Amino acid sequence: MDLSRLTIDDARSAVQNRKATALWLAEAHYARIQKEDGQIGAYLTLSKERALEQANRIDRMAAEGKPLPPLAGVPVGIKDVLCTLGVRTTAGSKILGKYIPPFDCTAVSRMEAAGAVILGKTNCDEFAMGSSNENSAFHPVRNPHDLNRVPGGSSGGSAAAVAAGMAVVTLGSDTGGSIRQPASFCGVVGLMPTYGRVSRYGLIAFASSLDHIGPLAKTVKDAAIVLRTIAGRDPMDPTSVDILVPDYVAELEKPVRGLKIGVAKEYFGDGLDDEVRQAAEAAIDKLKTLGCEIVPVSLPHTPYAIPTYYLVATAEASSNLARYDGVRYGHRAQGVKSLSEMYRRTRDEGFGAEVKRRIMLGTYALSAGYYDAYYLKAQKVRTLLARDFEQAFQKVDAIVTPTSPTAAFRLGEKSNDPLAMYLADIYTVTADLAGIPGISVPCGKTKDKLPIGLQILGKHFGEATILRLAHAYEQAA
Ligand code: GLN
Repeated sequence: MDLSRLTIDDARSAVQNRKATALWLAEAHYARIQKEDGQIGAYLTLSKERALEQANRIDRMAAEGKPLPPLAGVPVGIKDVLCTLGVRTTAGSKILGKYIPPFDCTAVSRMEAAGAVILGKTNCDEFAMGSSNENSAFHPVRNPHDLNRVPGGSSGGSAAAVAAGMAVVTLGSDTGGSIRQPASFCGVVGLMPTYGRVSRYGLIAFASSLDHIGPLAKTVKDAAIVLRTIAGRDPMDPTSVDILVPDYVAELEKPVRGLKIGVAKEYFGDGLDDEVRQAAEAAIDKLKTLGCEIVPVSLPHTPYAIPTYYLVATAEASSNLARYDGVRYGHRAQGVKSLSEMYRRTRDEGFGAEVKRRIMLGTYALSAGYYDAYYLKAQKVRTLLARDFEQAFQKVDAIVTPTSPTAAFRLGEKSNDPLAMYLADIYTVTADLAGIPGISVPCGKTKDKLPIGLQILGKHFGEATILRLAHAYEQAA
């Protein structure tokens, strides 16, 4: 069995038809992790006990001839910002280095209820802040396609685990691109659902109005199966929406002929690498041959997206991260003489440089005297960015762009230049700000054999359409 190509249906039907046991599948993945992950670094914690217990449960069901649920026996990885009952959850940070949650994230419990076997927790940038996974407090992740390059971030471990056959699918989180960009760097599929489509209960907050949970997978169909599993209203998250969850898998087979695809010049301007441009243009031609109509659209506020994102996201982060004060849970500084020294030293010891930078930026943007000029202004521009999409989507069913302006860069290439790192998010942050869904699907490789990703953006709750387009493209490519 070739683990690097194993899909959900392959795994599930092998278990259902007694060709393989769920236990064997889990152990085969652990053996691969043992062999490969020393050099890749995709996992932070393995949850063997929980995985093997679940695998046994699934094998008993299979032995009794019961029909198995959609993810039965499927080995999965979970980004370490999603809380897992009894399994260490660090958010890639020292401040949560020993944190063991007393509850499960809703997306995780829905995966497990659907039969998934949770292998462990995947590495990520600290509190999901980053585009290269180099901000993990533990160790970086290396891109399985070239170990000198980054896997993207912040869900770098989730992307690399799928790309290297160390999980069939994984969950990630996307605040400014952290599912789609690592998916594109690692040559896998990454889906960010509409804001409100998937419950955020149990997701360690970075920027609550921008955070989304979604799948990274080998195929579009696998991403659709996972979305169908985790989507839908959850009473534990008041921002999760009570809108019918379509059967995303059945919808994949509907024809794409006649769909209108928007192409915005703002996403093909300066800074876009030539090979990435060519691959995206070739993909657009392919969609045309599948019967889609290509329509030029304009998203005029795009140039303001990066500053807007880095104001809103840091402002929310500064508030969300105030809870790590050494009192309630997580790291606490020792040998302190006063409460304020305890706060200060706990946060100084627990947080890394990027997290501190963002707390300072966000605190500044929210402070009296600067609030109107920065935070409020950013919120207004956010509305304009959302309106750009609303107008474009009156004319088209989806918008196609490159996922990232370049393929995977080298480790260390941008880590001393935060601004250069922030610019890597230029094509992804807009969708988070507007709350619309987006998917990245592989669309070729550079001369150096590095994967390139095509991004397809959809209307609010238009996941079925972008999945269908991505699936048609994937089948034709
Ligand atoms: N790279 C972006 C950032 O650093 C996005 C992160 C994310 O989506 N979690 O904020």
